[in-house]
Amino acid sequence: MTSHLRSKLCSNRAKNQGVKRCNKAILFSDKKDIYVSPHIDLVRSKLPEHVYFFDTTMRDGEQTPEVSFTIDEKLKIAQQFDVLGIDIIEAGMPVVSKGDFEACKQISHLGLNAQVLGLARLSQKDIDSVIDADMNAIHVFIATSDLHLRDKLHMTREQCIESISTWVAYAKSHYDVVEFSAEDATRTDLDFLLQANTTAVEAGATRINIPDTVGTTTPKAYAYIIEKNREILPPEVKICVHCHNDFGLAVANSLAGIESGAEVVHTTFLGIGERAGNASFEQVAASLYALYGAEMSINIKELYKTSKLVERFSNIRIPVQFPLIGKNAFRHESGIHAHAVIQNPRTYEPLTPELIGYPRTDELADIVSQSITIGKHTGSHSLKAKLDELGVSCTEEQFTEIFERLKDLADKRKNIADIDLISIANDVTGHLAQEDKTVILDELTVLTGSVTPTATATIRVRLNGDWEKRVDSSIGVGPVDAAVKSILKTFKEIGNIELLEYEIEAVTGGTEALGVTSVKIRDENGVTVSGHAVHEDIVMSSVQAVLNALNKLMKSRKGNDGHEAETTPERSRPQL
Ligand SMILES: [Zn+2]
Repeated sequence: MTSHLRSKLCSNRAKNQGVKRCNKAILFSDKKDIYVSPHIDLVRSKLPEHVYFFDTTMRDGEQTPEVSFTIDEKLKIAQQFDVLGIDIIEAGMPVVSKGDFEACKQISHLGLNAQVLGLARLSQKDIDSVIDADMNAIHVFIATSDLHLRDKLHMTREQCIESISTWVAYAKSHYDVVEFSAEDATRTDLDFLLQANTTAVEAGATRINIPDTVGTTTPKAYAYIIEKNREILPPEVKICVHCHNDFGLAVANSLAGIESGAEVVHTTFLGIGERAGNASFEQVAASLYALYGAEMSINIKELYKTSKLVERFSNIRIPVQFPLIGKNAFRHESGIHAHAVIQNPRTYEPLTPELIGYPRTDELADIVSQSITIGKHTGSHSLKAKLDELGVSCTEEQFTEIFERLKDLADKRKNIADIDLISIANDVTGHLAQEDKTVILDELTVLTGSVTPTATATIRVRLNGDWEKRVDSSIGVGPVDAAVKSILKTFKEIGNIELLEYEIEAVTGGTEALGVTSVKIRDENGVTVSGHAVHEDIVMSSVQAVLNALNKLMKSRKGNDGHEAETTPERSRPQL
């Protein structure tokens, strides 16, 4: 390692001393901000003293189809990487385009703590473009597998070794820090890989990267390759790992490499990169922090914020199930999980999300409002906690009804928002108790479509303590109109009811939205009452709103000897 890089890495190390101390304190304190398998102790001793992060979001990551960062975006990302404590930033491959060259140059001039380097093939033009972009260090590469030599480069192994010797030496004549990559290393004959890497070191390379370019290795096989390189390379030469995710093993392979002698890990944010991408920074960094307790310069609290920045600029949406940063990474729906998490979040969450900057603490209110989702697997404990958090108080009977209606709704649609729950709860708690009801809907059939909308309603009405059945039909301009008219008709012998006002609104977006209906009815005595109802079917919410109003009307007749339940504002004022 040259003094140039060492000084940069040491300054990072000093800068983040507090973070590292905090990490250890958290791991072994009783606070249990992190709770991981204790058996990781078996591998902790194999870790290097310090793990360095080499981020290639702006180079390998930008090679993702349809991802292209503007220079301004790259500058913002680089600055945030510096705050995060990334040790080495691969800013681009300056020979690729004028834009890449300019971005590399401007990032190099930002005066970051991180080492800023550029990628170059083993050619004068490529290497000179890195030099011309004023970069701090250089990363050079050539493919070494027989497949790439024969079918891509049309070179012999001897020519490849000669090229490494020549061009690494040329790069070294301009740079203290030269990182060499044998592209497709994991599919390269091991003896030839060792020869290529040794040649690079002899020509001046200070870091040797061992890329799993096509993501075709496994943790144990990769560990073996790293160990073999570690055995023959001088101890001051750092080994880097660069893993692709073609089989979903990029993170596991990277960690296996670090357990086997590698000290530098190449990552990209969100795991973006060629094909299935690279090892994700989030997963590697959080694993090293929380699982291994490794020494590193990363300010882990900046993790989430940085991922969101890259999400915004790359235009690649973070999948909901993405580890640590996805929408579902710290959410729970099933009754068993939610109940346990409310009591102790470590039961089903390995760490306090706040530690990585995820916007949620371990406070109960925070857990309930942000991490407990309501759906068909919701249990009564989490529903109670959610209702408490939403400020809904209800009787046991009302709670049971809310719970049942919630399950009904969850069977029909996937997403249930807090506002849906509030609407159902308001609907239930705003109703008359069952024993106070006079009108109950038994059945409603609505025919609509190309025919004239026709509705047949069957209701039960309690008159003088006995329930009587009423059936009537009506046509209307639409299904709601027909249904409401049929209900009012079944009621005609009890009173001539007029619908004064009708309003409906959707609680949440989409065709599955809950419809909230408000109605106002008036009987022949001029008594006015209102009714409200919520249902995912607008015909049902309309009918229920009318029935709720009818029940209130009937109760007022019984209770007030024919006077209104809801008097007009003028009448409710004291008579002076
Ligand atoms: Zn790559």
